[in-house]
Amino acid sequence: MLVVMQQGATDLQIQTVIDRLVSMGFTVHRSTGVLHTVLGGVGPVDEIDPVDFEVMDGVKECHRIVSPYKLASRHFKPQGTIVKIGNVEIGGPHVVTMAGPCSVESRDQIEKVAAIVAGQDAQIMRGGAFKPRSSPYSFQGMGEEGLKLMREAADHNRLLVVSEVMDHTQLPMISAYADILQIGARNMQNFNLLREAGKLRKPVLLKRGISATIEELLLAAEYIMSGGNYDVILCERGIRTFETYTRNTMDVSAIPVVKKLSHLPMVGDPSHGTGRRDQVLPMARAAVAAGADGLLVEVHPDPDHAVSDGAQTLTPPQFTEMMQQVRAIAAAVGRTA
Ligand code: PEP
Ligand code: MN
Repeated sequence: MLVVMQQGATDLQIQTVIDRLVSMGFTVHRSTGVLHTVLGGVGPVDEIDPVDFEVMDGVKECHRIVSPYKLASRHFKPQGTIVKIGNVEIGGPHVVTMAGPCSVESRDQIEKVAAIVAGQDAQIMRGGAFKPRSSPYSFQGMGEEGLKLMREAADHNRLLVVSEVMDHTQLPMISAYADILQIGARNMQNFNLLREAGKLRKPVLLKRGISATIEELLLAAEYIMSGGNYDVILCERGIRTFETYTRNTMDVSAIPVVKKLSHLPMVGDPSHGTGRRDQVLPMARAAVAAGADGLLVEVHPDPDHAVSDGAQTLTPPQFTEMMQQVRAIAAAVGRTA
């Protein structure tokens, strides 16, 4: 249920609507736009008549939202969400690049990566310290030591940090080092983790599950947002299909579909999306052309010796080339990169 207030509605009028919704058993989420304030009510929607609200002072319109996700719906924030962290804005006109290794491996490696990332004017460094690996015998990540090294390398190069959290018990520790918490494909429906991340006031990068529909992705975002954490960034990272040439099938169409259905920023991950470094550049171009607000991409000083995901990881010269191409594509669609 959404109540859209009139332009210039007073605080008293807004509060009166909030109080009425609360008294009827709704939880109210407020989105204050430049023109309109929108009140999202989650609760017993079947029992209300929208007209009862439409006749209240200061109310422009009232709608029952039929989609199963409400706070993630474009209706809740038609102007779109910009996630702001320091001077970095995700969801605005600038296409933001988050780049770095699949895994943090050593101080030397992560310092080199940070210099490469910053050297191309990318603003965010990625790197996993806790790794979800298909095999329990594969490298599982450096843990807290890796987070420390990544934070230091990022600070030396004025970068932000995004790193993956695998379960809710890791939230306090990873939050202490990372600016953005990544929830990976395998955890997209870890509902405990989503709910706990919703209690924080820290941006979350939520990756689409390997077999998740777009609606399931938006419902996963809704779990986080219903806790009051509205800074959710979505990510298309490829889904499992019958195709075997690529590791996953990067669903580029999910980008404009999500941008239409939701106000949340959406980035593309052509590294996991293809699994092959020779396919990362074309899919990075495609993602930006399709309207992605950013890219998440793996880069390593020596990808052939990376401890994880080397085949899909760009070399530094390939990363430079990708950034040049992405800038050209961004300009063609009226953005910067
Ligand atoms: C990653 O970003 O390194 C990762 C494990 O991604 P995903 O969850 O998409 O597999
Ligand atoms: Mn990886």
